[in-house]
Amino acid sequence: MKKTILIIMILANMFSNNIIAQKTNNEEFKYILDEFADCKVMRYRLPDWDSLSLNQKQYIYCLSEAALWGRDIYFDQNYKHNLQIRKALEYILTNYKGNKTDKYYIDFEVYAKRFFFSNGLHHHYGEKKFFPDCPKSYFASLLKGYKDADFIIEQIYNENIAPIRRDNATDKDIVKTSAVNFYENITRQEAENYYNNIEIDTVRPVSLGINSKLVKENGQIKELVWKQGGEYSFYIEKIIYWLEKALSFAENDAQKQYTNKLIEFYKTGDLKAWDKYNILWSQDTKSICDYINGFIETYNDPLGMKGTWEALVNYKDLNATKRTLTICNNAQWFEDHSPVKPEYRKKKVTGVSAKVINAAMLSGDCYPTPPIGINLPNADWIRKEYGSKSVTIANLSDAYFYASMESPKSALKEFAYSEKEIEMEKQHGQLSDNLHTDMHECLGHASGQLLDTTPTNALKEYSSALEEARADLFALYYLMDEKMIELGLVPSLETGMAQYDSYIRNGLLVQLARIPLGEKVTEAHMQDRKLISEYALQNGKGCVGKRIKDGKTYFVVTDYRQLRKTFGELLYIIQDIKSRGDYEAGKNLVEKYGVNIDYNLHKEVLERYNSLGIKPYGGFVNPILKEKKDKKGKVIDIVVSYPKTFIEQELEYGKTYSQK
Ligand SMILES: [Zn+2]
Repeated sequence: MKKTILIIMILANMFSNNIIAQKTNNEEFKYILDEFADCKVMRYRLPDWDSLSLNQKQYIYCLSEAALWGRDIYFDQNYKHNLQIRKALEYILTNYKGNKTDKYYIDFEVYAKRFFFSNGLHHHYGEKKFFPDCPKSYFASLLKGYKDADFIIEQIYNENIAPIRRDNATDKDIVKTSAVNFYENITRQEAENYYNNIEIDTVRPVSLGINSKLVKENGQIKELVWKQGGEYSFYIEKIIYWLEKALSFAENDAQKQYTNKLIEFYKTGDLKAWDKYNILWSQDTKSICDYINGFIETYNDPLGMKGTWEALVNYKDLNATKRTLTICNNAQWFEDHSPVKPEYRKKKVTGVSAKVINAAMLSGDCYPTPPIGINLPNADWIRKEYGSKSVTIANLSDAYFYASMESPKSALKEFAYSEKEIEMEKQHGQLSDNLHTDMHECLGHASGQLLDTTPTNALKEYSSALEEARADLFALYYLMDEKMIELGLVPSLETGMAQYDSYIRNGLLVQLARIPLGEKVTEAHMQDRKLISEYALQNGKGCVGKRIKDGKTYFVVTDYRQLRKTFGELLYIIQDIKSRGDYEAGKNLVEKYGVNIDYNLHKEVLERYNSLGIKPYGGFVNPILKEKKDKKGKVIDIVVSYPKTFIEQELEYGKTYSQK
């Protein structure tokens, strides 16, 4: 053991910016890097990085460069002066020599961080422009002597300039009132007419307008296409360069084929090439390494046509893949032992394998606030004819989980009844959550069958809540089964116990914080959790108990075996309702246990939750990937490290991946 530590220490000294990376191997890894305004910035780990081959690492490295070179495009798409403003912020952050502990300077710094976090002037989620807390005169003093100082200050402080990124007020011309840089000098009507007049294949329509800006010049409407030789050419050429470099490290022909199609799309702007790329990409589920890179989501466009640029490089989560494979391979055993009427068990069940990946680099619309799952491509006809790729991103979810543990005030500490419960969650929570999700998705939804006479939509508006409850119960029931130990999925039944604690805690308390006071539970997953927990509380022979401590309400599991039995009984009931299509019984169950919230308890939960001051928006810094070369200059590894601060990473990106 000592030997390893020694080697790590030596390595750490050799590559100074690698120190934190080495620390990822022990317990000291800190997830939370910074908190400001309504944001929290975290770091994410690259699990099993060293089990990737050098070739795979180099592939990821090239794709990461291709990702980071597109970062500026997204800033510019959000608002046409964002890059100019960002450069002014970078100038101050790099050159200011005055007092950096001054309140006003700190206000400025918070503003700069918010600007980076949102990729521009507007709140990344709320769409509205936000402002610095320091006075305008102070800001101006920071920019003294800077070339466009007056213009920049006006852009930042004037409430009437670009007040909203994407407007959705129905009484206005939202193309005109939105600050996004997708239309210039053009009305909504003109934009719509322009696209309506283009004839396209209605069965297999191309994604019209996804890679262009629409402008009117001298009375003529034209599309400025984002491609090599067109708009954003500087960045797109770099992206192409790194995609071409990546080709030589591709794992297989499939990767080569779709990467070549993507390059063709960037070179020509041809929307047919974009579709062909998406078709080829969606078929590749075998590769370990994967990526998205392009003009993809259309949420930021008031007309829903223009794609914001984004990139996400990733690799398969090998552990999770192994785990879900074990679960899938034993799907029939779980089905055969399920606590439902034998005639409702499937004779032949195939588990649906969940695809779990780890992010390795985020950029554009994915940075710093990435999704934790991806389901692409977006074109309906491609999804219908060729299917889509749906993955969850494990290392980002894990980072959220561990970051929440690091906060001095956390929902766990507030709502868990005892230190023991907190300890159980810290020790087993991550694995038990992952297993619960895996079993819910791979087994739960795939299990059970309807009677021949039952129509598929018999449960109508209650079908979603009941279906989610069925999948949850299937997972919960087996999480406390000895079979889990036998299959090597859990070290002990404590993993299941931790899940029971957190499930009850969430179902009866924590999740209520997401509902406005006085309202009912309406979302299917929330109804499902409420239904199951409430049912256990009322019918579980005391296996779930209510406790009051210092005037606060808690719910605790007092008997895990009995709770498991109760979950089994409820699964029996719900499967029976589903298999027979008993609408009335389903309705009664959901309405009785899943919908209504006790007003006083709801009020208490909201007060307790709000007092925690939890930052609602989470984002990430990327790891730093660096080529390590031998004496002859040959790449022998790609090493991982982390920036010390959020600003450090943003400044580094601004310096390296931007047009001068
Ligand atoms: Zn589900």
